[in-house]
Amino acid sequence: MLTTFQTELAKHWSEADKRARVLAMEPMAEHTTFRVGGPADLFFEPENVSDLADILAVARTVNFPVTILGNGSNVVVADLGIRGLVISLGDAFSDITRAGNLLIAKAGAKLSRIAAVAALEGLGGLAFASGIPGTVGGAVMMNAGAYDRCMAEVVCESRFLDNDLIEAIVTGEAHHFDYRTSCYKGTARIITETTFRLKPQAQTEIYAEMADLAARRRTSQPLEFPSAGSAFKRPAGYYAGKLIADSGMKGYRIGGAEVSEKHAGFIINRGLATASDVALLFYRVREAVKAQFGVQLEPEVRFIGDWDGWQEAEVIPWRF
Ligand SMILES: Cc1cc2nc3c(=O)[nH]c(=O)nc-3n(C[C@H](O)[C@H](O)[C@H](O)COP(=O)(O)OP(=O)(O)OC[C@H]3O[C@@H](n4cnc5c(N)ncnc54)[C@H](O)[C@@H]3O)c2cc1C
Repeated sequence: MLTTFQTELAKHWSEADKRARVLAMEPMAEHTTFRVGGPADLFFEPENVSDLADILAVARTVNFPVTILGNGSNVVVADLGIRGLVISLGDAFSDITRAGNLLIAKAGAKLSRIAAVAALEGLGGLAFASGIPGTVGGAVMMNAGAYDRCMAEVVCESRFLDNDLIEAIVTGEAHHFDYRTSCYKGTARIITETTFRLKPQAQTEIYAEMADLAARRRTSQPLEFPSAGSAFKRPAGYYAGKLIADSGMKGYRIGGAEVSEKHAGFIINRGLATASDVALLFYRVREAVKAQFGVQLEPEVRFIGDWDGWQEAEVIPWRF
């Protein structure tokens, strides 16, 4: 299938373009905050929406699998890597513009940058996002949130590539935002741009809020180690971190993966973890909490790529 895709691509692109722009066997550990995972067969960073649509059209004609990545801060990529084409919306998709109280950001823009721009412009509402290390696309998809605030409160419109590879728009409630989910989850839609509705606020207030939240994160989260943030979603009526700590799993290690001593809700990479170490540790933690408290933890992190051989063991029943 890889060869078929490359042959098809060669009909549209010169050999030089193909070699320069579509990287083969690109290590995904370098594109994810967990720093685990094998290579993607092919890796591509589009320069604009039409560039993105062009390569998607080629992939479609030969049924070549496509995976979208933002900053890779909410994923665990399998040790076997990712089959097919990984498309990363990077620097070329990072423009941010202001129109009145709206900020319009391309999907590859980092949340920390949008929060900084909003603060500079005296627009409040995005301080909560300043410490979330994701892109706009990943954050809208996941309805990322922190400290009782989330994307749902500030996103008023988003653009995505529809089935015909034409940009379409979702507005307001049609986003169906809920806890760590949106209308984009489980679909092949690719978010290209998002509009945030903000409120004028004094710069000093916004900076103070950002500093306070950053300090809270530094004190409570193991930011010094690679991870994908909170490992599990918050189960109704509980805190995942407390359940994990109470089940005695704090500090538990498999290979290079560890349940953080600082915050049991985080699974971290001590340096030489494999994706398999991470997946097994997720499984053990889940089993321990289920056995002791009868609560079924659901991962917040997404397991992507080639996990073949794992399904049978039901270690990753929740992979995507
Ligand atoms: C230290 C640390 C702290 C964190 N704190 C928080 C927190 O406080 N709150 C929180 O909610 N999360 C947190 N996270 C998790 C993560 O940063 C967020 O979920 C973030 O929004 C993911 O964005 P991303 O660009 O990295 O997405 P990725 O990890 O690259 O992708 C996540 C999912 O979104 C999809 N996706 C990415 N871009 C697009 C797009 N353009 N169109 C369609 N789908 C797309 C991917 O296919 C994937 O399924 C934290 C992570 C770390 C490492």
